[in-house]
Amino acid sequence: MLAERAVSEGPEAIGGLPDDERWSEQMHRAALERKGALADCEACGSNAWGVGQRLLLLPALDASGSWVAGRGVDAIPVFCRRCGLLRLHAATILLRD
Ligand SMILES: [Zn+2]
Repeated sequence: MLAERAVSEGPEAIGGLPDDERWSEQMHRAALERKGALADCEACGSNAWGVGQRLLLLPALDASGSWVAGRGVDAIPVFCRRCGLLRLHAATILLRD
């Protein structure tokens, strides 16, 4: 499936981040459930969410449109397995408690 491949690819493990992908997926899913963020898909009504195993980095851009090294947002991808709707949750907010 395209969405599964998209979230399974990405940067290699970064030092200091957990490298057990299954554990990371469970931690992300538990945080989504704790925050009530796994309601039915707003596009198709399904409740078959796939949760990313790895964090994505959305890079920051400066005023000229160039990437700013070391700046950006860590995001957890969540996608609907039925229709492919893709959401991103800011990791620093979703995972804090
Ligand atoms: Zn959907």
